Amino acid sequence: FLAFVGMAVLFVAISVWFSWRPETEANDEFVAAIKNGEFIPYYQPVIDIETGKLRGCEVLMRWKRPNGDVISPGQFMSYAESRGHIYDMTRHIMTQSCEEMGQFYSERPDLKLSINLFAGHFLDREIISDIKGAFENSNISFQQIVVEVTERHPLSDLDLARKIIAELQALGVRVALDDVGTGHGGMAYLQKLGIDIIKVDKMFIDTIGTDDNTSTIVDSLVELADNLGMGIIAEGVETEEQVQRLLELGVTAAQGYRFAPPMPAREYLAYAEDLEEK
Ligand code: C2E
Ligand code: CA
Ligand code: CA
Ligand code: CA
Repeated sequence: FLAFVGMAVLFVAISVWFSWRPETEANDEFVAAIKNGEFIPYYQPVIDIETGKLRGCEVLMRWKRPNGDVISPGQFMSYAESRGHIYDMTRHIMTQSCEEMGQFYSERPDLKLSINLFAGHFLDREIISDIKGAFENSNISFQQIVVEVTERHPLSDLDLARKIIAELQALGVRVALDDVGTGHGGMAYLQKLGIDIIKVDKMFIDTIGTDDNTSTIVDSLVELADNLGMGIIAEGVETEEQVQRLLELGVTAAQGYRFAPPMPAREYLAYAEDLEEK
């Protein structure tokens, strides 16, 4: 009997070792990467398509490995969120973008800097102190900050989310609803959360020139934004045809490969300078 128990214990110990240890190692490696500063901001310009001028940018996270590989959020973001690392990473990305953009943004108070948050950030008021910690007494003012909340994942406590958003707005921060048209929130989010800006998902932009239904949907979103006093930004704009169609529909702000991909700080600053000279 003792031999049996011994075998059983050994068996359990070995399976725990095998299932748990690699997982811990992967997590240790991830934490080390955070500490090493391997998660960095890229910047994608947002363009005023009526004037061709720069409106600002969206900050998009990248994992830059020591070997030079640059990894996109699709490959690490859900892990970072489920493990709770995203809070540290977001603080880090905000501080870094403040360091890299502070000088330029202090000279250009009209420019916006848009930060992506995830659903968990709207379950804890700590995000307010995180944003204050990064931007208070910095070269970037709260009036220049936009935070994006995605419609893709449900917000489990709408009342708390509303309170957090209202406190951020009281500082001067604006709040954008990301991926509009794809997710859970829809009209309820727009109404309940007090959103300032809606970002029309790429899905709609893709077929805007070729599909009448899409044009009708975007047209309705423009009208809704107008009536509610919200701004509107088109995402994932890739062709000049889409730009022209958006202008016809009354959308004046856009981002996408038609203008520029997300890029490191120095390239974004050079891009902004080039636009000024045009
Ligand atoms: P998102 O917020 O909807 O960001 C837009 C995505 O579309 C970005 O992908 C961007 O590179 C890509 N994109 C921009 N223009 C075009 C275009 O013209 N065509 C196409 N095909 N794609 C375009 P990215 O950078 O891979 O980010 C993916 C998602 O990861 C983001 O989607 C966002 O939800 C999330 N994410 C990125 N950075 C952060 C972050 O710092 N915090 C959080 N919580 N999420 C982030
Ligand atoms: Ca976004
Ligand atoms: Ca989006
Ligand atoms: Ca209309």
